[in-house]
Amino acid sequence: MLTLESPIQYIKGVGPKMAAKLGKLGVTTAGDLLFYYPRSWIDFSNPQAISSTRIGQEVVVRVRIIEVKQEYSFKKKISIIRALARDTSGEINLVWFNQPYLINTIKPEQELIVSGKVAYDFKEKTKILLPTFYDNEAKILPIYPETAGITSKYLRKIIKYLLDLELLEEFLPKDILLNQKLIDLKTAIREIHFPSTKMSLETAKNRLAFNELFLIILKMLLIKKNILQNQAIANKINVPIIQKLINNLPFKLTNAQRRVSWEILRDLSKSVPMNRLLQGDVGSGKTIVAIIAALEVIKNNHQVVWMAPTEILAQQHFKSACNVLTAFNISVSLLTSSQIKCTKHFGKNKTKLQQKQFALEADLIIGTHSLIQKNIGFKKLNFVIIDEQHRFGVKQRAILLSKNYRKTIPHFLSMTATPIPRTLALTIYGDLDISILNEMPKNRQKIITKLVDPINRDKAYDFIHQQIKIGRQAFVICPLIEEKSKNKEAKNNLFDIEKKSVVAEYKKLSEQIFPNLKIAMLHGKIKPKDKEKIMNDFRKGKFNIIVSTSVVEVGIDIPNATVMLIEDADRFGLSQLHQFRGRVGRGEHQSYCLLFTSSLNSETTRRLKYMVEYNDGYKLAEKDLEIRGPGQLSGDIQHGLPDLKIASLTDTILIERARTEAEKIAVSDLHKFPDLKNQLEKMASNNHLE
Ligand code: ADP
Ligand code: MG
Repeated sequence: MLTLESPIQYIKGVGPKMAAKLGKLGVTTAGDLLFYYPRSWIDFSNPQAISSTRIGQEVVVRVRIIEVKQEYSFKKKISIIRALARDTSGEINLVWFNQPYLINTIKPEQELIVSGKVAYDFKEKTKILLPTFYDNEAKILPIYPETAGITSKYLRKIIKYLLDLELLEEFLPKDILLNQKLIDLKTAIREIHFPSTKMSLETAKNRLAFNELFLIILKMLLIKKNILQNQAIANKINVPIIQKLINNLPFKLTNAQRRVSWEILRDLSKSVPMNRLLQGDVGSGKTIVAIIAALEVIKNNHQVVWMAPTEILAQQHFKSACNVLTAFNISVSLLTSSQIKCTKHFGKNKTKLQQKQFALEADLIIGTHSLIQKNIGFKKLNFVIIDEQHRFGVKQRAILLSKNYRKTIPHFLSMTATPIPRTLALTIYGDLDISILNEMPKNRQKIITKLVDPINRDKAYDFIHQQIKIGRQAFVICPLIEEKSKNKEAKNNLFDIEKKSVVAEYKKLSEQIFPNLKIAMLHGKIKPKDKEKIMNDFRKGKFNIIVSTSVVEVGIDIPNATVMLIEDADRFGLSQLHQFRGRVGRGEHQSYCLLFTSSLNSETTRRLKYMVEYNDGYKLAEKDLEIRGPGQLSGDIQHGLPDLKIASLTDTILIERARTEAEKIAVSDLHKFPDLKNQLEKMASNNHLE
């Protein structure tokens, strides 16, 4: 008997060979296949007139073929089939690349319903249609995300077969279905694959989107409930010490820093574990808040661990902490995979292992993720700080939690500069309390942002030169490490415009544009140790310019850098661009962000203009979410995002509805809903959030 858990190879029409291919799409069981939603649907019932199609659009047209010919792209030896097609409104060329066999199938006089993307043919200077699908039946057909050897046609066949077996059981409690006016799961899954009408497709999407949001939110709420059932060690607030630290700072804390520090100190003074996210725009001064909190715990004679995503950042925090905390007789250590340092002398400890053990006994231990390897134990751990990382995996956390210090779990503070719109925060951080630093230090000047017309490129370079002459430094960001034409797969895409690469820009800048300046290059393929050296040298002023990929995105604090030039800015999301921009303007000097794009698309320009208009990361994140959807948020955010297949994190109303229902379940007893409990457990076993 086939069940939802049955491996797909036992489904009729799927053998081991196809099963392996489906596995590459993440589909391994019958259940996976039912929940493998279409990427889109082609509504053949409603074709569009050729004359109304626009470049860039995905369209469906009903045409008669007039003539067909085959050509070869002369350099690339690619077969091109061109068919002139017509409807009552006009004519268009259908163009298929690399499918020479179509010459035998596409014939004059044939009537076809064709769907595909309208593109611009640079050679012929006309618009053409690149068909992805053609047929002559009229209905709503699902199109699936495909891989080599698995077509939508094939998926339709096996999914239809599965649907007829009626394997699905409802797991949402009846009350929720009624309250939220949702259709049952079985109908929803059938309709998502084979919609009877456009309306029923929408109803199905709505039900399945509710599923996803509801389950994630419920899971987060249950995690929170679970954490709150644990004990933590309460820390007494020591006002004079904190006051002393604040008085010693070279600047005055902002009101937001004071408020947030207080929220955190109060949490740390309780015997329930703190579980808090500190959000603050780039440069809002989160580091000092973390140091204040750490001092509090250390003065209660407990240990603090502070983790950063990269060595560069760990080192930067180590420096900041040492600067501020030396007056308090506190030991601070730095532990990364490549180095161990401690403010207290290592004494007789000579071997690396001994030094590591010694460093692990410091009051404040700062490091990268190598800190959470299983074999590391902390004697008096009371407080864990995670910097610039959205989600600290529950798994990693469990490792820390398992190091029971007096049967307690540590307080936990996560810090992030990536602004997250409220709706998103409610969903993915449902288990965390949130503090927001919504105020910038007073000494900051507004960064001047310009969208530079390519014809003014030389002027931009002149400007960088001037800045460097008066002692400042600059960043140049490119989307790629190497030129794309060097990598094979890109070759096939005839319409892709070459994007700037670090390697090529570095060469150009150092040889042609600024031969007299010192320029360094930074990207993900450079070893961490070398990266760190480059960053440190840049900090010390040994380089004037750094050409880099997005590796400089997060956290780096170099107050002397005043120019951030971003190539192919359209390739990045607004949030990410804002992160880049946040690398400058961190000191007293007026700073600049110069955006370049070769895109002629007016949408793109409009999007980039938001960068000029807004300096506020939250505004930009909201715009990003609005325009591009959550899938396009900065890599950093994405990393923390749940895998939503169908729900949209911009759907505030549905999120609120899902949250209302999830809250009701979370406060009651999950055992009353065995099917739901079962579903959550299934989800836990294959969800990366765990
Ligand atoms: P982020 O929130 O992006 O992590 P940092 O903590 O690195 O920001 O702070 C950015 C810079 O601002 C640092 O050089 C820090 O010393 C400085 N800074 C922090 N708070 C203030 C303040 N209240 N007034 C002036 N400068 C501050
Ligand atoms: Mg920071």
